[in-house]
Amino acid sequence: MDNFDYLKNIDGEMWFVENDRDNLKVAYRIRDIISSVKSPFQQIDIIDTYDFGRCLVLDGVMQTNEMDGYIYNEMISHVPLVTHPSPKDVLIIGGGDCGAASEITKYRDLQKIDVVEIDELVVKECIKHIPSVAGNAPHDKRVNFIFDDGIEFVRNRREMYDVIIIDSSDPVGPAEDLFSEKFYIDAKNCLRPDGILVCQSESPIFYKDILQRTYGFLCNHFSIVRTYKAVVPSYPGGFWSFTIASQKYDPLNADTERLAKNTKYINEEIFKSSFNLPNFMKEMLELE
Ligand code: SAM
Repeated sequence: MDNFDYLKNIDGEMWFVENDRDNLKVAYRIRDIISSVKSPFQQIDIIDTYDFGRCLVLDGVMQTNEMDGYIYNEMISHVPLVTHPSPKDVLIIGGGDCGAASEITKYRDLQKIDVVEIDELVVKECIKHIPSVAGNAPHDKRVNFIFDDGIEFVRNRREMYDVIIIDSSDPVGPAEDLFSEKFYIDAKNCLRPDGILVCQSESPIFYKDILQRTYGFLCNHFSIVRTYKAVVPSYPGGFWSFTIASQKYDPLNADTERLAKNTKYINEEIFKSSFNLPNFMKEMLELE
């Protein structure tokens, strides 16, 4: 435990202390460290916390957990799946916890769900230790795990998709270029002409620059680009953004009756209201 500066003994109790930009630390009391392994890409810890249950932590950063992981996973998955009227083939870049893929399996008409994750060990650890987050993905025959760098995968364009979901970790280490304009151009080349791309675009409070840049890059290449929001308590600041882009389909005109019914967070009202942005976000995205 002493090997990692984010796992601390404070007054005889174990804590996971996430360091966000040196100015904010978020601490979780730990019941147990379930597993701790190092892959060629990152340090992977599965910890059991008192409030959030089992959590996936990569290089000291919270990725998902049993308590609120479904909020992020539902919002990044169902919104594009419902905005596209008839998706068949879906590509997820990243998403090693399998939560987004599991949400997508709720759409029976889909034919193929390719998950391109750079780190096979993340997938193995999550299936083994957090099966409630990995959900149905490991058991659904339409889900194919491809262990590859998402940047290389889209650059070498092998197939075309209706929906691409960029479910990446923060823009450091292997995920850094998943936030670059070049990557979005390559990803667009893997979309059918009426395809949809969605990405997590970070906190509009603490990472305003990343959201603005991501939104701007997508506006350079897609005619319809919209940012939407959700509250995810375990992400710093709690307030999180996603950005969706298409040449054809506007999520504001989506047939929300197509939403899968067995969800815990998203419903038709949440789908629609998530696109209502507060003034500070409209200003930063130069809307209206
Ligand atoms: N929901 C999470 C969040 O926003 O914190 C992210 C989910 S998922 C765990 C992120 C995954 O992206 C990680 O498993 C990581 O290994 C993967 N990843 C990072 N860089 C990648 C790359 N270049 N290609 C494919 N996967 C990548």
